[in-house]
Amino acid sequence: MSQRILVTGAGGFIGHHLVTFLKQQGHQVRGIDVKKPEFAASDADEFILADLREAKHAAGATTGVDSVYALAADMGGMGYISTNQARILFNNSLINLNTLEAARRNGVRHYLFTSSACIYPEFLQTDAAVTALKEEDAYPAQPQDAYGWEKLIAERLCLHYADDYGMETRIVRFHNIFGPLGTWEGGREKAPAAICRKVAVAKLTGQSEIEVWGDGRQTRSFCYIDDCLQGLARLMASNYRDPLNLGQDRAVTIDQLVELIAAIAGVSVTKRHVSGPQGVRGRNSDNARLRHVLGWEPQISLEEGLAHTYKWVEAQVERKLASGVSTPETRREFSDGRYRPASAVSGTAGD
Ligand code: NAD
Repeated sequence: MSQRILVTGAGGFIGHHLVTFLKQQGHQVRGIDVKKPEFAASDADEFILADLREAKHAAGATTGVDSVYALAADMGGMGYISTNQARILFNNSLINLNTLEAARRNGVRHYLFTSSACIYPEFLQTDAAVTALKEEDAYPAQPQDAYGWEKLIAERLCLHYADDYGMETRIVRFHNIFGPLGTWEGGREKAPAAICRKVAVAKLTGQSEIEVWGDGRQTRSFCYIDDCLQGLARLMASNYRDPLNLGQDRAVTIDQLVELIAAIAGVSVTKRHVSGPQGVRGRNSDNARLRHVLGWEPQISLEEGLAHTYKWVEAQVERKLASGVSTPETRREFSDGRYRPASAVSGTAGD
């Protein structure tokens, strides 16, 4: 049945894909974000450009909708998250408090909040050979960064709104979602896009050395965007209120990720390990509860997802190389005629 749906953060990576997916399912979709999608026009029926840190915008956006997918957040890869703690905690608290309360006041029945694997305690992620994280591992809480603390508070807010006001809230904890049409340069990009960019530059310029933050042995799992969209729709349609992991449960090292992408690109690269924020040492998703609750788990292999993503990032890099130097950042990057991202390379994903 067609529904009226609000997607917050509709100008972002997952939000943009989600709008397209929901339109394909026949829904009426309103998007809101402080920016339009960067790489393709939105399929939303209505797109509001507004800041959810202001309650009046949250009130307007949640008027007349049946359900809300709450994705808006000030976020980025590890480099961004670890150096903008106060800003992230402040901005995301306002966004999440305003959006959930406005949804309640406007009688929105279903509300899905997008949390993160970054909520899991740092002390469970000190080893690259990490034990996969179960939902109940969240407590006692000790997220590494303010980003994770804020997500935990927003999770709790959803649980209390369900208990106190009878809202149907859903909470998903993403583990590194990646795919085409995501940020691939500028400092907010995460490991898969950043490494695709580095490898593409190596391929297109013949400069085969690439920088990787840390020793490259830190581990993560990565989930392709199409699986993420399937999981979101299935969770929203379920009656499950507690937090649920959504990610792949195959952990790889960052060095292995580089090798996989280089193989897809058909080049050989030399990795230079440099110091930089790495995030936790190891992280993987335990999908037992996901399988139990949804009767489903992500289907798309890392290789297949990376092949789609690499192809898209390489086209972006190629276009940029062809267009020459236009911004202060690209001027730095191209200062000696060679592409050297000033922001260095995200060796590790933020979440
Ligand atoms: P993204 O940064 O591409 O999208 C977030 C969007 O929120 C951006 O377009 C941004 O402009 C918008 N936004 C920021 N501040 C806003 C404000 N004040 N008002 C309105 N919009 C605002 O991130 P994404 O990868 O699409 O992530 C979507 C959600 O999923 C976020 O909540 C993120 O924390 C969560 N998440 C993502 C991942 C991942 O791997 N991509 C992992 C864990 C959690």
